[in-house]
Amino acid sequence: MDQEHIDKWKDLEHDLDHAIPEEVLPDIAYYRTLVVNVIMIGAPNEDWVLIDSGTRKYHDRILHACEHRYGNKPPQAIILTHGHFDHIGSAKKLAEYWNVPIYIHENEMDFVTGKKEYPPGDPTVGGGMISLLSTIFPTKPEHLEGLVTALPNDGSVPFLKDWKYIETPGHTVGHISLFREKDRLLIAGDAISTEKPESSWAVLFPLQHVYGPPAYFTEDWMSAEKTVKKLADLDPDMIIAGHGLPMEGETMKKELKKLADNFMEQAIPKHKRQ
Ligand SMILES: [Zn+2]
Ligand SMILES: [Zn+2]
Repeated sequence: MDQEHIDKWKDLEHDLDHAIPEEVLPDIAYYRTLVVNVIMIGAPNEDWVLIDSGTRKYHDRILHACEHRYGNKPPQAIILTHGHFDHIGSAKKLAEYWNVPIYIHENEMDFVTGKKEYPPGDPTVGGGMISLLSTIFPTKPEHLEGLVTALPNDGSVPFLKDWKYIETPGHTVGHISLFREKDRLLIAGDAISTEKPESSWAVLFPLQHVYGPPAYFTEDWMSAEKTVKKLADLDPDMIIAGHGLPMEGETMKKELKKLADNFMEQAIPKHKRQ
């Protein structure tokens, strides 16, 4: 990829007109911000919920993408899979603009209300996404006090009666995924990814594979392995992860199972920090 292509790609990213969601099912769409997906649950003209909120400074593009699909109708809530800056970044601005609540797992709450900080990223895992993300690393943690509420303890998801959330710790301690039984759709957050996040090439030209969680920010690999096995046991028909294109069908099923069976070899970086 030469400089001209990179510039062109960057221009596209910054052009609001190109902030258009991609529909994957009549009631599911996603919009890919620089490196991370935000997901819209709900058909146009119906009530809807936003999952995750991209990095900071993406609120205008996310808003454009949402309005493209839903007009001026705000979502009923913003639900966060976890509190990393690439998923939470525009939550505050959007929640205030729409005047809607934000939900996150209670174990994640301290990290989004300024009480705790995530461990620093592990630079020893290597790779290109680090250099890409380093340009947008936040300088201070998000403060969502007054806007954020803990999800109910029973696995139910506010406003989404067909869905349940599943505790998927490892990448972070309070990470959740969302699952809809009737069509076995899994919104996985960073519990797995469908592109190799340590490669900047993969970010630009995603290849469809099922990978482990983004290594740079993953806190607890033992839990992350259990989580991937749990997700494989769900036997999803389609996955939309935080990073990468949606995946469905036999290839995805095979790869997810393979990842679950060989997690230590496949997902854990050889040179990870102890
Ligand atoms: Zn993350
Ligand atoms: Zn992420």
